[in-house]
Amino acid sequence: MRIYNTLTRRKEEFKPIKEGEAGIYTCGPTVYNYAHIGNMRTFISEDLQVRALRFLGWKVNRVMNITDVGHLVSDADTGEDKMEQGARREGKSAWDIARFYTDEFFKDFKALNCADPDVTCRATDYIKEMIDLGLTLEKKGYTYVIPGDGVYFDTARFPDYGKLAGKSHIEGIQEGARIEANEGKRNPTDFAVWKFSAPGEKRQMEWDSPWGKGFPGWHMECSAMAMKHLGETIDMHWGGEDHVAIHHTNEIAQSEAATGKPFANYWLHARFLVTGDMGKMSKSSGEFLTTGLLVKKGYDPLAYRYYCLQTHYRKQLEFTWEGLDAASKGLERLREASRRLAGAPAGGKPAGKYLSDFKAALEDDLNIPQALACAWEAARDEALPAGERLAFLKEADKVLGLDLFAAPKAEADLEPELMALVEARAAARKAKDFKRSDELRAELAARGVLVEDGPGGQKWRRKPS
Ligand SMILES: [Zn+2]
Repeated sequence: MRIYNTLTRRKEEFKPIKEGEAGIYTCGPTVYNYAHIGNMRTFISEDLQVRALRFLGWKVNRVMNITDVGHLVSDADTGEDKMEQGARREGKSAWDIARFYTDEFFKDFKALNCADPDVTCRATDYIKEMIDLGLTLEKKGYTYVIPGDGVYFDTARFPDYGKLAGKSHIEGIQEGARIEANEGKRNPTDFAVWKFSAPGEKRQMEWDSPWGKGFPGWHMECSAMAMKHLGETIDMHWGGEDHVAIHHTNEIAQSEAATGKPFANYWLHARFLVTGDMGKMSKSSGEFLTTGLLVKKGYDPLAYRYYCLQTHYRKQLEFTWEGLDAASKGLERLREASRRLAGAPAGGKPAGKYLSDFKAALEDDLNIPQALACAWEAARDEALPAGERLAFLKEADKVLGLDLFAAPKAEADLEPELMALVEARAAARKAKDFKRSDELRAELAARGVLVEDGPGGQKWRRKPS
């Protein structure tokens, strides 16, 4: 398999540390709020990588962390801990917030057909490992203390600092850091290994350490947990593109300073999901788009997965409601085509040509849009025996994860009479005949169908019985 390595800025043949095996570390969510669908795009990309490797015969060990402490509001290691911010926002404890949003995250993760990681680890369970890593760095002379603030990593002492992001990125950070200057730092890029609890303040999450009571710096957890579960050098490290310049750059610095070995051989990054009017999607701007919101609007979560599958993970993806509507239709049509084949005589071999094209697409830096195109071609290729196409689509779905053979949703079977009312309401609304559209909505509600208006137009669902 050839993969694009952010570290070398080119596609490379993937050479594992251990023959036939791939150890993959993927940065997980910070569980202080719901994950937005932009976050989920990264998790879907990682899931596709894991599924593709397994499909191609690799033994994969995927580790994902849950950040439940230490991720501060500002990248400069200042400001409030996001967990404590979440706790204050909702009037709960930081521990309750962590539990609640971890559960919510995995609901979305599963709804999008992301396979469970082999190891899921919470930062708060690895405080000792993080302290040990900090002690190693201290012993080797990489750290210094800012009294009343914390223990910091001196990035000037690590000669390759910033190699992942490139020099211009680091200069950018230095520029930005000057604005929110931390007077005690030796270099603007220095980052916290351990933060002290403020004097006289009792934090909800704090631990004793050789340096004083406090909590670990955010970057520490990924290095400590990745090395604990995958060894000092790992095969692949995944994350969103926002992690390149700071989080992953700092993971590399502290890990390699501690061990003297490369931390990860291949660095992979999924690009952002953007919305036309809002730009980069974040929790602080505009409508907060979550998997749950899509479901509430009547979408199949796998329609969003399909939406992501249409664009290569290294290309920015623009989210629009129209695009999601089109993805819903595309997915349903592919499922219909697959279901029609399901009655074909069993025992067919997967169509060889399609299977080899499909594998070639996966091996070319995870070219999922191409792999999806193979599935479509096979579904439509009536010259080929149905049994072979059926067998191929079953194989392809192991990677695509679209539930191609799922039974149609009950909602898809709305009686023609009710469907006609739904369509009449959409037409009335389009004509700005709001009186009529309200009447039709009421009539539909009386007959068990709820209609909701959103930016993507009208959505309907059956009233839960
Ligand atoms: Zn991380």
